[in-house]
Amino acid sequence: MAKYHLRLAHLYGNLLNTYSDVGNIIALRYYAKQMDADIAVKIISIGDDFDPDDFDLALFGGGQDYEQLVVSRDLPNKKAGIAKFINAGKPLLAICGGYQLLGHYYVGANGEKIPGLGILDHYTLSQDNNRFIGNITIKNPTTGQEYHGFENHNGRTFLGKGEKPLGIVIKGHGNNGEDHTEGAIYKATYCSYFHGPILTRNGEIAKTLLLRALKNRYPHDDFSQQEALKIKPTF
Ligand code: GLN
Repeated sequence: MAKYHLRLAHLYGNLLNTYSDVGNIIALRYYAKQMDADIAVKIISIGDDFDPDDFDLALFGGGQDYEQLVVSRDLPNKKAGIAKFINAGKPLLAICGGYQLLGHYYVGANGEKIPGLGILDHYTLSQDNNRFIGNITIKNPTTGQEYHGFENHNGRTFLGKGEKPLGIVIKGHGNNGEDHTEGAIYKATYCSYFHGPILTRNGEIAKTLLLRALKNRYPHDDFSQQEALKIKPTF
């Protein structure tokens, strides 16, 4: 029995899960075990209530435009809860479609404008007859860490106020193919176009999310041992 217990909301996990984004949960559990923590997972989908007080972590995965459209119609019901979760500094990992939907809007490949939550200040445009596909390497300007992944998106995202990029592109396209940024960080919300899934190849991001969740949930405990852990990728 683990010492620490974390609760993860998998937002629209039955609709947004392209390219094995669910593998991020497997990776989180793998690393959590090394930190003496377990994770209970609940899918929060269309029509469900989302109470931010019930969760310590959240995952918002990627999807095709059709699923994103379906999800976008349900988002207004969860906007207040997700905003509270994010602004309380609780860790959320948003990948591709989920990343786009946290911003103001997303223009799909057919030109349709899909409204997002507008909690983060980015917006996403489409591009004609092209997708950004392939392996990608970025470097986080603050930590100096390098992250590796695989991107596959039509959307071109432009960051807004208060958002820092997850990394600067070394190889690949990133947010929009123009400004060399990839992903976004806002409080403890980490956004990225990386599939792969991102956390299996970039254990340090998993560790950051887990430490944040543990410190939020158990504010009186000392996590220096977990902090010092050398996290190894799962492969
Ligand atoms: N449909 C979006 C795009 O193509 C998101 C894709 C994804 O989540 N992989 O940009």
